[in-house]
Parts: sequence; C-alpha cells; structure tokens
Amino acid sequence: MEKNCHRRRRLVLLPCPFQGHINAMLQLGTILHARGFSITIVHAEFNSPDPSNHPNFNFLPIPDGLSEADISSGDPVSILWRINANCRSHLRECLSQMMTAPAREGPDDGDIACIIYDEFMYFSEAVANSLKLPSIILTTMSAATFLARTALIQLVADGQLPFQDSVLQDSVPELYPLRYKDLPIPLFGICDTFSKLVLEAYKIRTSSAIIWNTMDCLEPSSLSHIKHQFQVPILPLGPMHKFAPASSSSLWKEDTSCMEWLGKQTKHSVIYVSLGSIASMDEKQLAELAWGLASSQQPFLWVIRPGSVHGSEWIEILPEGFKENIGDRGCIVTWALQKEVLAHSAVGGFLSHCGWNSTLESISEGIPMICRPYFGDQRVNARYVSHVWKVGLELENEMERGEIKRAVRRVMVEKEGEAMRERAKNLKENIELCIKEDGSSNNALNRLVEMIMS
Ligand code: UDP
Repeated sequence: MEKNCHRRRRLVLLPCPFQGHINAMLQLGTILHARGFSITIVHAEFNSPDPSNHPNFNFLPIPDGLSEADISSGDPVSILWRINANCRSHLRECLSQMMTAPAREGPDDGDIACIIYDEFMYFSEAVANSLKLPSIILTTMSAATFLARTALIQLVADGQLPFQDSVLQDSVPELYPLRYKDLPIPLFGICDTFSKLVLEAYKIRTSSAIIWNTMDCLEPSSLSHIKHQFQVPILPLGPMHKFAPASSSSLWKEDTSCMEWLGKQTKHSVIYVSLGSIASMDEKQLAELAWGLASSQQPFLWVIRPGSVHGSEWIEILPEGFKENIGDRGCIVTWALQKEVLAHSAVGGFLSHCGWNSTLESISEGIPMICRPYFGDQRVNARYVSHVWKVGLELENEMERGEIKRAVRRVMVEKEGEAMRERAKNLKENIELCIKEDGSSNNALNRLVEMIMS
C-alpha cells in the first residue's frame, strides 16, 4: 500500500546513450518504479534502448542530430558534445508537451515530479530550469573517477600534458594510489572538447542532488571529499543492479546458450572474459589473449562483440588451431547475460576492461578480477581493484600470452588468488549490508524518494 502512494507522480529520466550509462539509468528507473513512480525515459535516437524490455516505462526518443560521420567516428566525447548542443530544444518541446497534454488515465500521466539526467546529458538541467522543474544528476562512474578527472582537467589547464614517460609511474598528489598513468585519459586522447565537456558536466549548478552508483563502504574517502565539495546532497545508492530486479537493457542480443555450458563446469573454475561495450583490440592482441587463455588450462567464457576486433566481423580471425586446441573447454559468445554469468557458481574470476558497471557487478558477487583497462575510468577502477580493495591484479603491459596465462593461474588456482577471493567475499558481504534495510545505500534511496516527494 505504502509503496504505491506515489503512483502517477512522473519522473523523466535522461540516460547518456552508451551501454554502461543506459544500464545504470534504467536500473534507477526500475528502483524508482518499484517505489511507486511512473517512469518516462527520454532518450537520444543513437543507441536507443529497447522499450520491450521495460514494458512499465514510457519511452520517448528525441532527435539527436548526429550525422553518420559522428556515429562512425566512435568517439564518445564528440558524440556527447554534439548531443548536448543538438538536443536542448527537442527536450524542451517534449517536456512542454508532456506538461500540457490533457490528463489521461494511463499509469504515466502524472505531473512531472523531477528530471533525473546523466551527468553527461547536462543540457537537461537548463531545460528543466526553464520549465521550472526540479532536477537531479545521476553519476554512473566511481567517486574516485570524479576526483581523478577533476585533477586531470586541472593538469591539462596547467599545460602538464602530455605527461613525460618519466612521471607516468609517479603517484598523483592527493590521489593515492593513482599514478599519472592511471588518470582517466579518454579513448581518443585529450582534446579541447574533452576538457569543455567535463567542465560542463562537473559544473555545480542548480540541480538539487547527485545520485551516485557507488557505496559508502566502497569509497569512503573519495565520497567524503566529494560531500565536502558540493553544497547539495550526495546520494550513493549503489550497486543499483542489486536493488533492481534483473531486466535487460542490452544494446546487443544476449546469447543465453553459455548458461547451459556454465552449468557443466565445476565450482569457481571458469574465467569469464569481457571487455565491455566500447573497448576493442587488434588481431595480434586477440591471438595473444586466445593463446593465453588456452594455455592457462582453465575453462573460459569469452565475450567477443561483433566488430570489436579491428578488421573482422566476429571470430573468423581467431588463430589457426585454437578452436581444436580448446575443444569444449572454452565457450565464445557475442554478448552474455553478464550479471547472471557473474552470479553463477561456476565462475571464479573475471578478466575485464574494468568499466564501472562490470567492476560493481564483479565485486558484488565476490569475484576476483584480472584487470585489463583500455581508457578513461577503466584505469582508475583497475587501480582500485588491485591496490585499494586488493581483489584482483592488473595486466599493465601489452597483451602477451605468457602474462595472461600467469595471471589466470595466479587468480584462479594459486594461494594469491585464494586471498583475493577471500577479500572479494568480505567486500561482497559489506556491499550486501549497504542495500539492506538501514544500510547506507538503502537510506540514500529513502532520502532520494523523500526529496522527490517534498
Ligand atoms: N554486459 C553485458 N553482456 C556482455 C558484456 C557486458 O550485459 O556480454 C554489460 C555489463 O553487465 C555492464 C555493461 O554491459 O553492465 C558494460 O558496462 P561497463 O561500465 O562495465 O563498461 P562499458 O561498456 O561502458 O565500457
């Protein structure tokens, strides 16, 4: 009864159109829907989510004005810059229509209580202000990444980039244990647009709170820094996927056949390998990874996205003799039900690019990680996994089969891995406490609901 008392108060959510960000925003929508709000997702046409996976939500696309060239550039920074420039008037029109439409008897016809937007969809705030609607920000990355990115932008402004090779291994003052090489440099390197985008996204404006997909128990000192820095409430209510019942927001079709294969493997024997939705590699790296996995002698489940290996459709360029070598010890899919895979008892390790969602999903299940970060926040997350929470190790060099084999053995079979697994189990238990009644994330969620209702 109590849960449904806000039914028909509408929340408008604006995800940033990349897989990791979409997942977090739709999880937040699911959480708030369960608290009785109706949810409208206003989204760019680019990478639009599949409405059929969320029948309780209302989906409204707005034109994003991206050209073929923008999209094929694959550059998240320039795509986001353009979306922020192009979408403002379309969002305003869309919201105005919602506000003036005659009341209907549907589940999604309430007044707009609040706009919740991804930090990188910051044009939404100006639109919300112009329509006198309250707004709240969702940050889908770690608190440590926020601090590291702020420091990086300052270093850029001070003319310190590119870094000399001689400083790369040095610690960045006040960002222990990050080194200069761990700072979140974007996919295509530092450029003016990146600095402008981050400065806009991180500007303190009029939104009334910042929701963070992290936990007090995981990042106490970074969060405490941030709480001092902002005047508005910081609400760490992660890991959001643990609050929200499993529902897919994948941009690719999931191959569920691997679940059957997993069912045949012994407990904690499988190393799961995935580099997320953006990172890619070349043919040589693919071959090194393939032979590293093969020679580790551990069973593996490997996600290779179509097109994620330069110059290939899918796995036709796997090295000769590889498939025969591994037999049924390996399973390769185009896209997996990652959260379910990580929760499966057969999985004992995760070789990951360390996107924030993947990192949260892994540590929430107590799975130790082999970190192979590529760009951006992945480097920060990898450093935290290996040096703060100590639930994994980082591959720092070029992809090399011997190093991969050793890393898999260290995490999956050796004593060192056992210790990581033990720490990962403790971390998992602490995370579970955060989302229980009276846990810090649950309290933050209650506070958010109260704020929206007040
Ligand atoms: N994911 C998935 N199936 C896969 C690979 C990834 O469902 O085969 C999901 C994963 O669970 C995570 C998201 O895709 O929620 C990737 O987000 P992340 O922040 O880890 O990395 P990004 O893709 O943004 O680099």
